[in-house]
Amino acid sequence: MMAIPTQLRINAERLKTDLDDLALIGQTDEGGVTRLAFSQDDVRARNWFANRIEDAGLLVRDDEVGNVSGILPSAHPHAKTLLIGSHLDTVPNGGRYDGSLGVLAGLECLRCVREAGLALPVHLETINYSDQEGTWQSFFGSMGFAGLLRDLRPNDYNQPVTAMRAALDTVGIRDSEIHLARRDPSTLLAYLELHIEQGDRLDVAGRELGLVTGVVGRTMLQVTFRGESTHAATTRRERRRDALHGAAHYITRAYDVIADEYPEGIFNCGDVDVKPGQFNVIPSKAVLRVECRHPDERTLARMEERLCHLAYESAEEHQLKATCETILHRPAVDMTDSIIRTMEQICQEQGHTYQRIVSLAGHDAQVLSLITPTAMIFVPTVDGLSHTPHEFTHWNHIEAGANVLLQTVLHLAEQA
Ligand SMILES: [Zn+2]
Repeated sequence: MMAIPTQLRINAERLKTDLDDLALIGQTDEGGVTRLAFSQDDVRARNWFANRIEDAGLLVRDDEVGNVSGILPSAHPHAKTLLIGSHLDTVPNGGRYDGSLGVLAGLECLRCVREAGLALPVHLETINYSDQEGTWQSFFGSMGFAGLLRDLRPNDYNQPVTAMRAALDTVGIRDSEIHLARRDPSTLLAYLELHIEQGDRLDVAGRELGLVTGVVGRTMLQVTFRGESTHAATTRRERRRDALHGAAHYITRAYDVIADEYPEGIFNCGDVDVKPGQFNVIPSKAVLRVECRHPDERTLARMEERLCHLAYESAEEHQLKATCETILHRPAVDMTDSIIRTMEQICQEQGHTYQRIVSLAGHDAQVLSLITPTAMIFVPTVDGLSHTPHEFTHWNHIEAGANVLLQTVLHLAEQA
């Protein structure tokens, strides 16, 4: 047991300088950041991060899936690792806080503990997980770390695996070595992630912090409607078997059904492919890629079923055939309640307003939660704008989040 230095705080100026410096790497004309995974700017960011780690007197570690870590080792013989992290990659022309905040706040926590001369019974590690945003494959780094990366599967179905393999090769990641990145869960104590909310719930509610209770599950379905291509003008109305007309009806109904029956559910149809794609020919085929999300895994399964049934119904009404195929499923996950309670206590001690909140976006924490106790802190995103250069979080909120993160690290270390 050690006495927790509850007055210890992060060096806000240093964290701010780091965030400002990092935002210069891949900076865009609009004031955003483009650091696509495994691109030159992504590599520059990793190198910059490795230098910052060394400057702080910490150890640098990298692994077979491109994750980069800074480590403050413990002298304790049976020490486990307490992980803090997020991602340094971005979407095209994204914001400067998404991902970067969690990695750099983690680094700041390690520096604070080191400077305070605390001998913790756990190793501290701040980690940058590669390709969280899915330039190639979402959660590539965290999945590899968790030992859950079975194969290379680019998010973009038009992208051949060979192209992804070539991109990985440029940064020295070998397909055959990916399995070596797996960390033994028995060596881990917990995983913590500080992230911007990316929605506007905290901003609207006027709360300083969000304590994440779970991450919504997500299923991507491919719904295909098949009809018949005939002359657009001469085919009588009763004989038309218009695949796109049925699909359009389906999409509208799906939005209504999810809104009416699943208040916490989310539906999106973001991709429609129509064949033969001629303005004077009735569409014979419409392929939709739709997505649904829900915080409860069982309700998500019912939503999926409902969406498929709706497709069959819509098809029948339009004399079409429909098929419904699950392309991807990421289960809804819960964060660890005992850590959330510790965080609540710290928020109260530090006088920060907070609320429990479900994450609607995906995060590395959802992957880590499958192998180790995990918790997340959200800071508000002004107007909920994220994945845009306009992404912004007030500095006092960032400081509050980083300080709750630091104290959570100390509390978990003390309990270890
Ligand atoms: Zn992110």
